[in-house]
Amino acid sequence: MKEFKLERMTYFDSEEYAKKGSIVMLPVSPLEAHGPHLPLSVDILGAETMAESSVEKLNSQGIPAVMAPVLPIGISNASIMFNGTISVKPETLKSVISDIAESFKQHKFKGMAIITQHLEKAHFETLMEVSEELTKRDIHTMTANPIGKTGDVLFKMLSGDMPQGDLHAGELETSFCLWKCPELVKTEIMKDLKPCYVERKKEPEEKWDFIKAGATDCYIGAPALGRAELGEPIYEVIVEAIVQEVESWASSL
Ligand SMILES: [Zn+2]
Repeated sequence: MKEFKLERMTYFDSEEYAKKGSIVMLPVSPLEAHGPHLPLSVDILGAETMAESSVEKLNSQGIPAVMAPVLPIGISNASIMFNGTISVKPETLKSVISDIAESFKQHKFKGMAIITQHLEKAHFETLMEVSEELTKRDIHTMTANPIGKTGDVLFKMLSGDMPQGDLHAGELETSFCLWKCPELVKTEIMKDLKPCYVERKKEPEEKWDFIKAGATDCYIGAPALGRAELGEPIYEVIVEAIVQEVESWASSL
């Protein structure tokens, strides 16, 4: 498999990809608290995993693509009270992403596809907005929405009582970490965590946070049900959805 990570290429290799009409995939997710049992990097590792597998698959299907290093920022208003979480303002996120997209445009890449694992509404909407704004300026950019497209399939793979309520550091993300970075999971703490499901938010999203919702340990779902063997199949479903979405977008450019 040919190298597809920009950080491991020379500028000649990058130019070769650009000349072939390649797109760039940019993973974007912040450092964020994920319960008392998972590392702050869950969404960073998740976005990186999605991007690696998607870009590899796109290339094997004849859609030239490269991967940029993870941009480790995002909007995390709902969890900013937990130590180690970082949150930037929407205008900061837009500004950094625009500058990155302009650089790739200057180097003649065909477009930029953003991938995120962090699904806080303000964060995801900002990514969608900046993608539209850039595209209007002829800098083709999209934000993939694999969870939105595969939610029903994913929920069926989970075994908790309320799989659709497994939103943060629960069965799904704990399984991901047990597969991808088991050495960072505090399993002794994990196995004693009681399921925590929160009611659908009555408050507007911008006023909602983990503490107000009753998720005082910064997890929503059933972490104790996490298992390593579930991690890979879940990400296969997600990657398949990304590849389809990016492929149809790239072929329309
Ligand atoms: Zn997460």
